[in-house]
Amino acid sequence: MECPKCNGELETKEHEQVRLERCNRCYGILVEEHMLTETFAQWMSESFLDVGSPALGKKYDKIDDIRCPVCDVQMDKIEDPVQTHIWMESCSKCGRVFLDAGELTDLKHETFADRFKGMLKGKRKK
Ligand SMILES: [Zn+2]
Ligand SMILES: [Zn+2]
Repeated sequence: MECPKCNGELETKEHEQVRLERCNRCYGILVEEHMLTETFAQWMSESFLDVGSPALGKKYDKIDDIRCPVCDVQMDKIEDPVQTHIWMESCSKCGRVFLDAGELTDLKHETFADRFKGMLKGKRKK
């Protein structure tokens, strides 16, 4: 499967229960939505899967007019509500999300930080 952002090839990568496609050139990641949740649940999974440098990701982040390589439809740009610097492309047909190199790690760490804040708040209530 060809990468929607460059001429690279999307290769299937697996780590524990997580399965996703990663570009061998720009290290962009194409992942199904439920797999993204799985990635967040797996300890350190991002360090095995999101191996591209954030600098490389930033370069490809500028390319935002892409088509889903699975469905061949225009992907929507979505902004992470917490981390507004993270833009992801999402396919309205299959629900897959495309992340540039470094974005998965960024997203996961922020999610965990938020959960931790939530836990502290919960404790204060009683
Ligand atoms: Zn690529
Ligand atoms: Zn799709």
